[in-house]
Amino acid sequence: MRLSRFFLPILKENPKEAEIVSHRLMLRAGMIKQQSAGIYTWLPLGKRVLDKVNAIIREEQNRSGAIELLMPTLQSAELWQESGRYDAYGKEMLRIKDRQDRPMLYGPTNEEMITDVFRSFVKSYKDLPLNLYHIQLKFRDEIRPRFGTMRSREFLMKDAYSFDLDREGAEHAYNRMFAAYLRTFSRMGLRAIPMRADTGPIGGNLSHEFIILADTGESEVFCHKDFLDFDIPAEDTDFDDVAGLRAIFDKWTSRYAATSEMHDAAAFEAVPEEERVSARGIEVGHIFYFGTKYSEAMGAKVQGPDGKEHIVHMGSYGIGPTRLVPAIIEASHDENGIVWPKAVAPFEAIVVNMKAGDAACDAACETIYAALAKAGVDTLYDDTDERAGAKFATADLIGAPVQVIAGPRAVGNGEVEIKDRKTGARETLTIEAAINRLT
Ligand code: ATP
Ligand code: MG
Ligand code: MG
Ligand code: MG
Repeated sequence: MRLSRFFLPILKENPKEAEIVSHRLMLRAGMIKQQSAGIYTWLPLGKRVLDKVNAIIREEQNRSGAIELLMPTLQSAELWQESGRYDAYGKEMLRIKDRQDRPMLYGPTNEEMITDVFRSFVKSYKDLPLNLYHIQLKFRDEIRPRFGTMRSREFLMKDAYSFDLDREGAEHAYNRMFAAYLRTFSRMGLRAIPMRADTGPIGGNLSHEFIILADTGESEVFCHKDFLDFDIPAEDTDFDDVAGLRAIFDKWTSRYAATSEMHDAAAFEAVPEEERVSARGIEVGHIFYFGTKYSEAMGAKVQGPDGKEHIVHMGSYGIGPTRLVPAIIEASHDENGIVWPKAVAPFEAIVVNMKAGDAACDAACETIYAALAKAGVDTLYDDTDERAGAKFATADLIGAPVQVIAGPRAVGNGEVEIKDRKTGARETLTIEAAINRLT
C-alpha cells in the first residue's frame, strides 16, 4: 500500500477525551473514529488489525472443531420471551419496534437464537457434538461506555455455542474452547490467564474469564505468578483427545486465579507471598457451561442412543475482538506509539522514503516495495512528500514491526537502514541484503 493512496487520518494533537494510552493511540494513529457514545467506525488502519485478530480467532476456533455461521444482529423479542430473558435483561438491551409494531432487539448475545437454529435441525445424538460460532456485532447499552473500543456499546464478539448429549460431553467441549483460547491470545502476543468466574444460579466451577494483566484494566485480579510461565498448548494439539485436553485444563486451573468477584482472600494468602500477583486486568474472553438452561426452556432435545429424548447440554464462549485490539496496544507500546506484534500488525513493514522526488531514493524504495509485495510481506510505502521527521514519527506511531529507511546518503552507497520498531536497533544493509532480511 502506498501511503499517498491510503486513508490514514493521523491526529497531530493528543485527543483530550482519551483517558488511557490505547484509546489515545488508536485515535492518533487514525484507527477509529467515534460516531456517537460508544459507537465507532473502524478506519482502514484499524480495520486491518481487526481483520488479523479475527483471522487468528477463526483459525483457532476452526482448529478446535467449531463451525462458523452468521446470525443477524436484529432479533425478534419472541425468542427472548421463550427463554425468560426479555424482561430480565434490563436496560443494557436496545429494544426496537419495526413498522408492523413488532418488538425486536439488537442482540447483546445469541444463546436464544442459536438454540432456535439448533432445535430446527438437530434431532439425533448422532449429530453431536456440535459447536457453532459467529463473529458478529453486538449491542449493549453500557451505562458508562469508555476507553474507546475497550468498552463500547456496539462491539464485535466471537461467540461460540456448544451442544452435547450430557455433562461429560459438555466438559470436553469446554476444554476444547479452553485450549483454543490459550492459543488464540498467545498468538496475538498476549498472556491471558483463565480465572474462575461466577456461574450464578447454575453452580459448579465451569466458567472462566480470560484476563490480560494491565494497569488500566477495569477488574481487580489475584493470581499465582506461575501463570506467567505455563506452556501454551501446541499447534498440533489433538482436540478429540479427551484426556489430553483435560490435562491442559487441569494444569491451567491448578493455581490460584480469581477476579475480585470470586476472590477468596484466605486461599490467596495460602500462596507464598513472593508468588502472589495482585493486579488489574482486562477481560478479553469468557467461557461458560450452563447445562440445560436454554435448551430446557426452548425445547432443544435430541434422541439418544437409548431411544429416549435428551435435553442437550450447552456452553457459550465469547471473545471480544474490538476489545482485544486496544488490549494488545495496552500491552505493547512505548512513548512514540504502538509496537505491534507481527501477527496482528496492520503492516509488517513500512518503507520510509526520506526524500520523495529524489530519483535514487525513489528507485531504491520502489525496488524494495516491489520485492516485498512479491514475497507477500504486507508493506506500507511512505511515498508522500512530508519531511523526514514527520515520516519517522508516523512510522513509530503506527507501529509496523520493521522500518526500512531510505535516505539520499545511504542510497548513494547502495544501502538502506533497517530499524526494529521494538528495540530501536538500526542496521545499515545493502538494498539486496535488506530485501533478503525481510522476505
Ligand atoms: P464486561 O465484564 O467487561 O462488561 P461481560 O462479562 O459483560 O464483559 P461477556 O458477556 O462475558 O462480557 O462477553 C464476552 C466478551 O465480549 C467479553 O469477554 C469481552 O471481551 C467482550 N465484551 C463484552 N462487553 C463489551 C463491551 N462493552 N465492549 C467491548 N467488548 C465487550
Ligand atoms: Mg458487561
Ligand atoms: Mg465480565
Ligand atoms: Mg464476561
